[in-house]
Amino acid sequence: MKTSINQEICIGCGACVALCDAVYRLNDELGKAEVIPGADCSAAGCCKEAAESCPVGAITVEE
Ligand code: SF4
Repeated sequence: MKTSINQEICIGCGACVALCDAVYRLNDELGKAEVIPGADCSAAGCCKEAAESCPVGAITVEE
């Protein structure tokens, strides 16, 4: 399972980090979320929930 964040539309609200901090983190310099390099969505089991909770639909999760 792969995930990505469209930083063009991310507003840095932190919801994805709150729900899934094994995979997502905030980049303080950019004020945007990013995927932690090497993070494993399948193991973390929270990417879909994070994607559904993103207020701007910036998170993509692919099977
Ligand atoms: Fe950005 Fe969406 Fe994560 Fe909020 S939930 S920080 S808008 S990717």
